[in-house]
Amino acid sequence: MTPETVLADLIKINTTNPPGNEIEAALYLKNLFDVAGIPGEIIESEPGRGNFIARLGEGERKLLFLSHTDVVPAGEGWDFDPFSGEIKNGTVYGRGAIDCKSLAAAGACAMLILAKEYPLGGALIFAATADEEKGGKYGVRYLVDRHREKIQADFAVNEGAEEPVVLGGQPVHFIQTGEKGTAWSKLEARGVSCHGSLPGLGDNAVVRMAGAVKTLAEYKPEIRIIPEVALMLQEILRIKKLNVKPEEIDAVLGNFEDKTFAEYLRALTRMTVSPNVIYGGEKVNVVPDYCQAEVDIRILPGQDDNYVLGELQKLLPDGTMVEILNYHVPSFSPVNSPYYTLIEATLKKVAGEVTCLPQISTGATDSRFLREAGISCYGIAPMAKDFDPQIKATIHGKNERIDVASLQVKVEFLVALARAYLS
Ligand SMILES: [Zn+2]
Repeated sequence: MTPETVLADLIKINTTNPPGNEIEAALYLKNLFDVAGIPGEIIESEPGRGNFIARLGEGERKLLFLSHTDVVPAGEGWDFDPFSGEIKNGTVYGRGAIDCKSLAAAGACAMLILAKEYPLGGALIFAATADEEKGGKYGVRYLVDRHREKIQADFAVNEGAEEPVVLGGQPVHFIQTGEKGTAWSKLEARGVSCHGSLPGLGDNAVVRMAGAVKTLAEYKPEIRIIPEVALMLQEILRIKKLNVKPEEIDAVLGNFEDKTFAEYLRALTRMTVSPNVIYGGEKVNVVPDYCQAEVDIRILPGQDDNYVLGELQKLLPDGTMVEILNYHVPSFSPVNSPYYTLIEATLKKVAGEVTCLPQISTGATDSRFLREAGISCYGIAPMAKDFDPQIKATIHGKNERIDVASLQVKVEFLVALARAYLS
């Protein structure tokens, strides 16, 4: 089996979450591993929500290859069938081609290669899990809570790193060492209802909320440079030959050619506040007495739920009620660790002379559950040298695909990492 055929087979299994139905992908992987004589098992957290775990070797040292098999809905407007899994002109096409079936396929193929070698000097664990795209309740979170011993490792590699970028003509690869936290919040405004023809008699909750939302949109969060981001910024500014202090980052971001990367850096240097949902009012001739909004808030280390509530209360008009609906602290694994050093050395060995930088993600992955359980976890995205950056935009978008060369680099990386740590 080649990694591209395994990936193509996984893409053809529709694991759109919801509902997930990852059991089909788990059964496919179980069969692949059975044929190769690698012991594996399926753990169903709920009917249809299959997690596949396999293990090669035994010993003190333990390394975990983590990936997820569910995908986000394909949506409309694709130029090809999102579940065709077609392999054409050195590219594999379909939903999950990058996020995250490529890593699952690469990890599976690395296990098949390593199974044919001398026994490993430790345990290599492979976990392809369910439900990452909807919060991990039926996947890694379930495994951490109920089957911790099956995924316990010294460290894990997972998705989550930004794909490589070219800065100042140099390829830069990232190793994700942390993720921002979330403090998704609900705002409520209350007023007094009356007939829409005599609005002066009432107190319009939609108008109140409009003021609150405008205030949030204009809010300038304090710039906060955490050590990991400082390191990354210094290196990026050095490569770009820019002479500014990290705290003055806003002055240069507007001139970055890569707008996505610039906005990513902006989000890493402050709390972000984005009011994304609003509803209120029921009838055109009634002044509404209630309006609700939901705000996506992402926090940095040193910022917690009290900080968020304090900031919102300072900003928002009197009478706006605030409640945090979904709260996750930021999660981190150390940069000063032998695992980070090993991942960096392995990336350089496989991807050639590249710069490696620690990276913090603005979003969340399953890595947070492992970190909260005390297992170091690093996000990686090894890609081939001539990887087309256009492909990045297809993650969670339309026309998702990956080049076979990058898929092979992922396999090489995982094999080299396991050999280096477990031999
Ligand atoms: Zn993913």
